Amino acid sequence: MLAERYPYYVANRPRWPNTDLPVVDKYSGEVVTRVALSDAAAVEEAIAAAVRAAGPMRRLPAHARQAVLEHCVRRFQERAEELALVLCIEAGKPLRDARGEVTRLIETFKAAAEEAVRGGGEVLNLEVSARAEGYRGFTRRVPVGPVSLITPFNFPLNLVAHKVAPAIAAGCPFILKPSDRTPVSAMILAEVLAETNLPEGAFSVVTPTLKDIGPLIEDERLKLLSFTGSEKVGWDLKARAGRKKVVLELGGNAACVVDREPGAPLEVVADRVALGAFFQSGQSCISVQRVLVHASHYEAFKALIVERARALRSGNPRDEATTLGPMIDEPAAKRLEGWIQDAVGRGARVLTGGGRKGALLEATVLEGVPEDAPLSAEEAFGPVVLLQPFTSFTEAMAQVNAGRYGLQAGLFTNDLSRAMHAWDELEVGGVVVGDVPSFRVDTMPYGGVKGSGLGREGVKYAIEDMTELRLLVLRQR
Ligand code: NAD
Repeated sequence: MLAERYPYYVANRPRWPNTDLPVVDKYSGEVVTRVALSDAAAVEEAIAAAVRAAGPMRRLPAHARQAVLEHCVRRFQERAEELALVLCIEAGKPLRDARGEVTRLIETFKAAAEEAVRGGGEVLNLEVSARAEGYRGFTRRVPVGPVSLITPFNFPLNLVAHKVAPAIAAGCPFILKPSDRTPVSAMILAEVLAETNLPEGAFSVVTPTLKDIGPLIEDERLKLLSFTGSEKVGWDLKARAGRKKVVLELGGNAACVVDREPGAPLEVVADRVALGAFFQSGQSCISVQRVLVHASHYEAFKALIVERARALRSGNPRDEATTLGPMIDEPAAKRLEGWIQDAVGRGARVLTGGGRKGALLEATVLEGVPEDAPLSAEEAFGPVVLLQPFTSFTEAMAQVNAGRYGLQAGLFTNDLSRAMHAWDELEVGGVVVGDVPSFRVDTMPYGGVKGSGLGREGVKYAIEDMTELRLLVLRQR
């Protein structure tokens, strides 16, 4: 079902060089296909083509940009099952999660198709001073120009969509560099885009190694760098990005608070927390990592989470019954296993899980993990959740804020004043009341503060970053 080989794309066209990148099935560990490798010359060609395409893309009428996005929606719908299987193989996602990601890909493109034709801008009253009498002001948004987009492995399609679809809606030519661990789905997306009549050079999807990637970060002809990935890489790239705008969507160690009166039966809360913690084997930037539970029902909640963790069925992601797939590779699973052992050495207790077979780490629940242990302070990015009781709500809020991340936080409470307090005090990009921090729909503003990043995605907000205000002043005589 996978092709033997996939090209990369420069200036809307496939390229088939002799060198390529092996792509591994994340469950079997076998090389299942290959994707052509881009060299430094291909990166330069992609940038030069994007610069040439900036004018034609800016002038492309809104209805034409919308038509491109609508074409993608139709083709993704037709190829949905194929795309889900690709995600299942290259990212190790259980099929049901992979299908969910394809649904979100389609929703993201649909949202961008709507945004593409939305007007916008303001009429300004400039007569604030006698010298401005007879002057009027108008604003509209214009595309920033060519943009560079770099994406991670964990949502290989929908996180690509969160950059590519707004770029098309905004009228920016783009160069996408998908994760070298999951490049196939991005190349299928490129194949679909190549069916459209986007101006030549409007898009390239390239696969350079780190040695050849530099210009995608440093070249001043590129006007924006939008990066989703790990914290260290993101901030390093920002330091190298020069004058261009930079959007960083980075990691987190999201916390969820289960209050004295959580506002829902404890079983329902436990269902949501288990889903938020173990979905995608915890490889989501808003996966539930830390759960602060009011002491009055801590023991009951603990039993419910342990029960749910044990009920997960781990195994081959292609099996429809599998609910817990492998992590992205064995080193990632070993790293997390090491952190679990380190936490136990510091006095933590494993309530269930902890075992590992290759890249498959068991769904693991711990308590008593010290705040400064890597398992709590760093991003776990795996199927692990830490439980901790609290008695003071203020103290729980302080613990959510502890540390250097701030993406989203979840709060189960039926107390409106506590919900508003959390919204006021939590240092995060978003507070989710009545659900887990892992909740996301693709139109909402999404992003972090502190170490978790800079700027917001969510179609409309990404378009804002990819455009600039341009003012018109009109003097009437
Ligand atoms: P990563 O940082 O290793 O890689 C991300 C991308 O950057 C890949 O395309 C990779 O090839 C590229 N890259 C790596 N080193 C680079 C360098 N030195 N120069 C230029 N490009 C480089 O991240 P990952 O392991 O693929 O993804 C997991 C991380 O992504 C986690 O930290 C997760 O929290 C984060 N993430 C954040 C969000 C968000 O929206 N905030 C969403 C998903 C994932």
